[in-house]
Amino acid sequence: MSHKKSPGLWIETGVDEKISVVMVDGFGQEQRLPPVTPAEDLIHAAEIDYSAYRREIRNLWEKHPLFKKRLHIPVSGLEDLTEEAVTLPSMLQETDPLSFLALGSILDRALRIEDDGSALFLLYAGERLLRALEIPFRTQIRLRNIMEITFDGTERNTQQERYQKLRSAYPKIAQFCDPAKLDGYENTPLLLPVDSVYQLRLTELLLYFRQQKQRIARCDYCWGYFIPKTRTAARYCDRSFEGQTCKRRGANLKRKKGPEQDGALKLFKQLRDRMYARMLRYEEAPESQRKNLIPMTVFQYGEWEENARQARREYIAGTITAEEFLRRIDTTHELDSYDTVKQEPSTEKSKWQKRVTANPDFDPELKYPSSMMILDLRTDTDTPQWQYLSREELIRKDQEGHQSLRDQYGGGTAASSSKQEDGNSEDS
Ligand SMILES: [Zn+2]
Repeated sequence: MSHKKSPGLWIETGVDEKISVVMVDGFGQEQRLPPVTPAEDLIHAAEIDYSAYRREIRNLWEKHPLFKKRLHIPVSGLEDLTEEAVTLPSMLQETDPLSFLALGSILDRALRIEDDGSALFLLYAGERLLRALEIPFRTQIRLRNIMEITFDGTERNTQQERYQKLRSAYPKIAQFCDPAKLDGYENTPLLLPVDSVYQLRLTELLLYFRQQKQRIARCDYCWGYFIPKTRTAARYCDRSFEGQTCKRRGANLKRKKGPEQDGALKLFKQLRDRMYARMLRYEEAPESQRKNLIPMTVFQYGEWEENARQARREYIAGTITAEEFLRRIDTTHELDSYDTVKQEPSTEKSKWQKRVTANPDFDPELKYPSSMMILDLRTDTDTPQWQYLSREELIRKDQEGHQSLRDQYGGGTAASSSKQEDGNSEDS
């Protein structure tokens, strides 16, 4: 085998579990990225910001005359699109040199298709070009879904268990990353050719699984990925938001807002709503129909509420247990059980998690492009209500509580990111 590497991407493994990514261009010129560990590079790749680049491509899809519906598509439309499109990769030169290089040959191939003489050729050629440009962020979407499957809630697992989790969700992808492929090569420096940036990420994942020194965890506060410094289970990363680290913010939220989440208080609210609705129904019903209703006068409701509030205060102060709290507010014996308050996070997957599991290309930007009106048809309301939900609220709804603390409670924005509303509803 010759020492010269053929054009494309290569991974060289070296000492200290570090790897080097080598990019070789058509003239055989090598460019070597600084050595990193697979874990470091995967986290970095998941965080590259493609938003401006993606916006430019979306603009071309939406506004370029080539894609306007009409009978005659002029050849100049494709020429013009191509001219605009080929300048876009340069936006990635700094932030993602790998994709910048890879796009060179991808675009070459996309542009080198034969005119098949069909009227739609120009349109297809244009679409093909833009799809080629989308590859860098499509790759990232896939990587993020893979990481969510593999590293969300697995901080106490072994590497093998993380790999198994990936395998049960995405068997084909896991097959590529199977660390057993490199059994017997533990102490041998390797030179691995990869076809694409996507394949490079999967190879990094393979190399990650086969080592034990570093692990990837997900921060409870910001949901970013990080490499814990010690062997003990870590919950927060070192990133900071408005000058305060995730660790500080996470600990504060746990202390101040933790109880709001807890199952007992949820039951308290449900019971209170039920009592209130019962009181309204009873008070508003004509005398003749009251015998069909559970009696609840304003006075009885007031009494119940006062007692329940007192119990709630004691519960929050920690002087009574959740079980006692529920016993005291459940004066009409309506709750099925008082041990539902174990506050174990539900093992049932949220809608969001089901989507990620079902589809490695699940793209939140396409699924939740904008705000929406939804009709609330739940049975506990008599008349269905129209509700306006922002994009963030829609996401929150589908995540059903399985979210970063930052998304649940708002607050703290990273230096450059946009403002986030504090969607925190105070308990009255
Ligand atoms: Zn964090």
